[in-house]
Amino acid sequence: MRIASVGGRLALGQGERWVDVEKASNGRFSSDPQAVYERWDEFVAWAPGVPGDAPEASGELGVPVPRPRQVAAIGLNYREHAVESGMAIPEHPVVFTKFPSSLVGPGAVVTLPSDGVDWEVELVVVIGRQAHQVPVEKGWDHVAGLTVGQDLSWRAVQTRGPAPQFSLGKSYPGFSPVGPAVVTPEDLLDKDDLAISCSLDGEVLQDGRTSDLIFSVPELVSRLSEALTLYPGDLIFTGTPCGVGMGREPKRFLVPGTLTSSIEGIGELVVTLVGGEA
Ligand code: ZN
Repeated sequence: MRIASVGGRLALGQGERWVDVEKASNGRFSSDPQAVYERWDEFVAWAPGVPGDAPEASGELGVPVPRPRQVAAIGLNYREHAVESGMAIPEHPVVFTKFPSSLVGPGAVVTLPSDGVDWEVELVVVIGRQAHQVPVEKGWDHVAGLTVGQDLSWRAVQTRGPAPQFSLGKSYPGFSPVGPAVVTPEDLLDKDDLAISCSLDGEVLQDGRTSDLIFSVPELVSRLSEALTLYPGDLIFTGTPCGVGMGREPKRFLVPGTLTSSIEGIGELVVTLVGGEA
């Protein structure tokens, strides 16, 4: 199953078309794309029975999960990325937040506030069932679906100060593109091994596989939930593979253009970058 925000309303993918969930369910489910995660089990039971002539959704794709209560993000979660960052392979997940005010959807125009903004394509987890102190083997049970994200990062801000400021340097407006859709894990060929890549104006910048994650999706749900209560509709940015600009010699950062982030079986998240300095 695949869901998205179409014209600001919750939509269910049906082949090539999008069904308007509020209309197709005669008001049983809200049009608010965020609200569905609170009733995830009920929605999952209802969705397969939607008829082929259900009312269609129309409009632009937006942020599929627009108002998560919490957004957890994980640093250094691919071995080669930890190495290119000059850091040790972490023994525990490195956790920070991306403030929800930084979320944007597919097609967004993102202004680069500096010439030092880096790219990080990431697999993003959407929580579907509340989780607190969940064992690893139950981790996937708390996941509604997966989507594509970018963890845009102003490196100078991220690393400034006596302790790193990851959350601040990664939360400027537009720094958290997410989308185009949320896909349920059962709909993916192998939910633990997906090709993940990003490109700027067609030049491939990162190209990896999610099977190289140091802490897997179920492990992250388990480790985060040791401390936190994760709520339906919360997001976890799971970390980026190698190939970021900061790890290059010479260092390289984003310039205006089209940034395309892709994950196998989920789709392409395309945003336009403007401003900044060349
Ligand atoms: Zn990241």
